[in-house]
Formats: sequence, C-alpha cells, structure tokens
Amino acid sequence: TRPDADSVLAGLDPEQRQVATTLEGPVCVLAGAGTGKTRAITHRIAYAVHSGAYVPNRVLAVTFTARAAGEMRTRLRDLGVAGVQARTFHAAALRQLQFFWPQSIGGTLPNLVEHKAPLIADACNRLRIPADRTRVRDLSAEVEWTKVMLVDPDDYVRVAAAAGRGEPGGLDLASVARLVRTYEDVKTDRAVIDFEDVLLLTAGILDERPDVAATVREQYRHFVVDEYQDVSPLQQRLLDLWLGGRQDLCVVGDASQTIYSFAGATPEHLLDFPRRHPGTTVVRLVRDYRSTPEVVGLANSVLSMATGRHAQARLELIAQRPSGPPPSFTAYDDDVAEASGVAARIAAEVRAGRSAKDIAILFRTNGQSQALESALADAGVGYVVRGGERFFSRKEVRDAIVLLRGGARAALPGHDLGTETRAVLSSAGWDEKAPTAGGATRERWESLQALVVLADELAEKRPGAQLSDLVDELVERSQAQHAPTVDGVTLASFHAAKGLEWDVVFLVGVSEGLLPISFAETPDDVEEERRLLYVGVTRAREGIHLSWANSRTPGGRATRKPSRFLDAVRPQAAPAGRRAGAVTPAGARTKRTSGPLLCRVCGASLTVAVERKLGRCTDCPSSYDEAVFERLREWRSATCKAAEVPAYVVFT
Ligand code: ATP
Ligand code: MG
Repeated sequence: TRPDADSVLAGLDPEQRQVATTLEGPVCVLAGAGTGKTRAITHRIAYAVHSGAYVPNRVLAVTFTARAAGEMRTRLRDLGVAGVQARTFHAAALRQLQFFWPQSIGGTLPNLVEHKAPLIADACNRLRIPADRTRVRDLSAEVEWTKVMLVDPDDYVRVAAAAGRGEPGGLDLASVARLVRTYEDVKTDRAVIDFEDVLLLTAGILDERPDVAATVREQYRHFVVDEYQDVSPLQQRLLDLWLGGRQDLCVVGDASQTIYSFAGATPEHLLDFPRRHPGTTVVRLVRDYRSTPEVVGLANSVLSMATGRHAQARLELIAQRPSGPPPSFTAYDDDVAEASGVAARIAAEVRAGRSAKDIAILFRTNGQSQALESALADAGVGYVVRGGERFFSRKEVRDAIVLLRGGARAALPGHDLGTETRAVLSSAGWDEKAPTAGGATRERWESLQALVVLADELAEKRPGAQLSDLVDELVERSQAQHAPTVDGVTLASFHAAKGLEWDVVFLVGVSEGLLPISFAETPDDVEEERRLLYVGVTRAREGIHLSWANSRTPGGRATRKPSRFLDAVRPQAAPAGRRAGAVTPAGARTKRTSGPLLCRVCGASLTVAVERKLGRCTDCPSSYDEAVFERLREWRSATCKAAEVPAYVVFT
C-alpha cells in the first residue's frame, strides 16, 4: 500500500479497519451512535482511493441530510480526497434526472415544488372535500407515505387497511385513494413535480431505459450508504437500480436510530441486508468514541426500556473517552423561562471560553425555535438556524455573488477585503447587527453574514486578498458544495441533528406532549419518540442538559409533565414541586477547596441560596438539587481531598 493509504488506516480501530479494507463484495456495519460508522466509511473511501482501488468520481456516497453530505465532503477533503460524489438520495437523483430528462422524456424538467399543501388543497377542492389545515397536513403526509412506500393508487385501499393507516385526514380510505389520484392530476395540470417524484421519476427512467441505466452504472461503480436504517422502500428501489445486481456496496446503520418511519423508513432493510446479499461481511462496532461515559450511560439507559423489533437489534455502547460532567435535568416554570435559562447557561459557557459553534439546542418541533431565538438574542449569543444546507441555491446567496462580482470589477487594488465585502453586502440589506426579527429575515441575514465571515477569514489567510479572490473562492466552494457557516449555537430539530455532534447539547422540551409528541398514539409511535431522545442524547460529546417546562406559556394553567422517558434515566425522581438536577457546565474544571461557593453558570455567590435552601441560584435560573448542595457542603469541609471533588464542582 501507499503511505497515504497507510496513514488513513492509522486513525481506525481493528473493526473499523476491517470496514475500510474490505473492498470486495457487500459490507454491512451494524453499530450504535458515535462508534465511528461515518468515520469508517469515509476512511474506507479514502483508503480505496489512495490505494488505487477506486477512482474518486466513480464513488457514490449517499447520506441522509444535505448537512451530513457536506460534512462527509469536508472529512474526505481533510483526508486528501477530491471528486467523490457525496450526496443525499434526493440530490443524487435530481442531478441524474436533470441530465437524463431531455433525452428520455423530452423537453425540460418540470418545476420542483417544495410544499404539497397547495396542491392537496386544490385536489380537495376538485373532489369537493372541505380542506382545512389539519386535513391538508394529514393528507400531504399520507400522499408522501404512498409514494415512499411505492403503493400503487389502485392498491391503496387494501395496503393502507393492512398497514392500519386509520382514516387519514378524517376520510375513508376509498376517498383518500381518489384524492391520491387527483393530486397527481393537479401536478400534471400545473406542470410541477414534488419531492418524491424526483426519486420516482429517476427510478422510472432507469427501469425503462436500459441505455440510461447502462450510462449511470458505468459512471458509478462503488456505493456507500450512511444511516441505512432510515432508508425507505423508494430509496431502496433506486439504490437497487443504481447497483443493477452488482455487489460493490457498503451500508452502515443503527436500528436504534430509526426516526423516519413516517417517511417510510424501516430498519428491515438494514437487518435483512446480510440475507438479501449472500456473502456479506458483517462488522459490529461497539466502542463509543464520541461521548463521555456519562453521556453514553444516559444513552444506554434511554434505550434500556425500549421495546419492539428495533430494540432487539440494540447495541450496548462502551465509552472510550475520559469521564466528564454528569447529565443535568432541569424543570422550568414555562417555555419562556426555559429558553432564557438555557440561553443564560450558554452565555456562561461562551464566557468561559467555549466556542458557540460547539453548542447545540435540539427540539422536537420547529415551533419551539422562536422562544429560543429571542432568548439567545437577548443574551447576546449568536445562533444558526438553517446551517449550511443548500447554501449556494439560496436566492440571497446567488444575488450576493452577482453583487460581489460587480463590486470586484468596480473596486480592486489595495482595499481591505472585509470592508469592501461589508460595503457591497450592505446594499443587499446586510447589517453588522443581527436582525431582531426571526424567520426568513434572520435566515437571509445568516446567509449574508456567512459571506462576511468568509471574507474576513480569507483576508486573514491571504493578506491583500481582493473581492475577486472572494468571488473565486465562492465559485470553487459552490462547485464542491462546501458552504461557509456563521459561527453560532446551532438550533435544530432532533431529526435534523442526526449524524452530527457537538461538545455541549441542550435538549429542550423533554416533556409529555412534545417527547413523545401528542400525536404519537400507537406503541410503535411512542418507541420512535424514544429513539428520537436517544439520537438527541448521543449528539453530545461531553455536556448534556435536558430540560422541560411545567407550563406552556408564562402564567399558563395547563401543566406539563416531564417526559415518561425520563423516569428510567433520571438519577432520582424529584419530589413534586421541587426542581431537580445539577448544573454542570463542562468549561468549569478548576478544583479548589476553599473560598465561597459560586454558581457555575453565572458566577454569583451561592452562600444565600445554600443557607435558605432555595434549590436555585439567586441571580440566574440555574437549579441545584438539595442533595448536590449537601455534598458541596461536605466537599468544602477541611477534610475534603481535592481529588474527591468531581470535575464539575467549582470552588474559587
Ligand atoms: P452516528 O450514529 O451518530 O452517526 P457514527 O457511528 O457515524 O455516529 P462518527 O460520527 O463516525 O460516529 O464518529 C463519532 C466521533 O468519534 C467522531 O468525532 C469521530 O471522529 C470519532 N471517532 C470515531 N472513530 C474513532 C477512532 N478510531 N479514533 C478516534 N476517534 C474516533
Ligand atoms: Mg454517522
């Protein structure tokens, strides 16, 4: 082997190395969160390329989110590999569809619509079915289900009844079948296609046009699929067509992380893989490299109560990292208090020197984001909602590049790149200060801010760099789909956080009604919610904070209970009406055993709080369990040896 190939292998353990070096025949990796599945397949590609076994552009690496695909491209670049196609199923299919549509179907590809709702509403009108919001939402989900499950509308009534679909949108199944057909008519009339059509049409062309299939199979020889537990029958169909009976395929997944059942995901594809592909090399990874033993312990106990078929495939994780702070569990009075409490903790972490981009707040529903956004803005902490996803296709980014290009022609030598970029982008509505408004305004600002940050980085890396250099850099990055990002706390749903990791993770709204979500009705639905919590917990490298609000709105009367999933995992259930948990920012590491006791979040003295047994800091919402206080008092006594004090206790 070549030196590059050897050094790629050096960063792997023996099982991961087996994944990386087994380049013949099918490979299936079954392993829990943080065990290095993504690392193993990324290194596998790098090893194969460096050892001369693979030509980079003949590799198709499929991931689940655009962000994960971006991450994989970055990791590959760091390993000295360029030219590998790392994409989502959707992005890979769309590229092929755009390319092959003119020769297979003729004309140009119809416009892709992002939302089904208006089309569903139209279909309802045509059938004279009242279309209220809930019904439109439920029917959109049902139409998506029929497509990802490859259900023929003629078979819908039978299949849906067998699958226990109930009465989608409050309609009987025969009416839903009519709606599914009418929905297709609406799309044809409007000359648009939807999200699933991209995969369905690509599969259709590959199926019916042997010449196109041959071209695609000639192009792609080696396939790697990450997060394979969430593959839908539609995605599996496309993968089978790409492979065309060949076996050069490596899949990795964790059945305990199946969180897309609503989109047709089933871990059966993963669990049945060795049977469907005779001669498969099965590799199991159990060492958790991502998280501290405390986080791993919490993750294991979240799953310990799991039931059903996913649970049978569950893999216990064995922590590799040194010990860190224990998980914290905090109850807040209401959502607003929760948001500001979390923001205060984050502000303290950032003050203690942690970079905001190493922190994430995860939630079950996007509706929870707004309160967190305002709290972070009030606390002066930067945040990112959308991240780098599809960065270069955003309108504001495309417009900004045009402006920068114009600016490059008009300005050029001797001007400071940062200043110039700010001047140009100001004319596009950018401001040094983040907007107070959320939603689209915020997202637009984030995109432009990312360009400003990139300009500053470039100026630092290459003194004397000009606007034209920035434009070149952007063109290069857009070809590689390598999005720049704003430095800030990540706000994301549990679903979007899959595969990613941060030093410190806050899981908010861990209460009944949100996790499990109110509409999780069947035992299977509830199990999926439990897996979501597992996915959330396992995103943390060292700090994990779970919180919930006792009431939805300030002064609200409707009370919420902590999530049932916490029953098995909290160190001790707090008596009703008392706050539970210990506050444990990971930045706090100094151990000294004299002087006043300080709040580890805001730094205020805890003397009064301890004396009055308040259970919380007097200056910020940090809560302290009475038992923790008791131990803190002991540790402060003269006989205490510093070595006995856990790392998360700070005395100054
Ligand atoms: P998930 O199920 O959440 O997608 P994963 O199994 O894909 O997790 P990775 O993201 O590949 O896990 O790895 C988790 C972390 O552990 C990463 O930071 C990775 O760099 C690190 N890691 C993995 N394997 C090793 C190793 N052999 N040595 C050192 N660090 C490792
Ligand atoms: Mg992964």
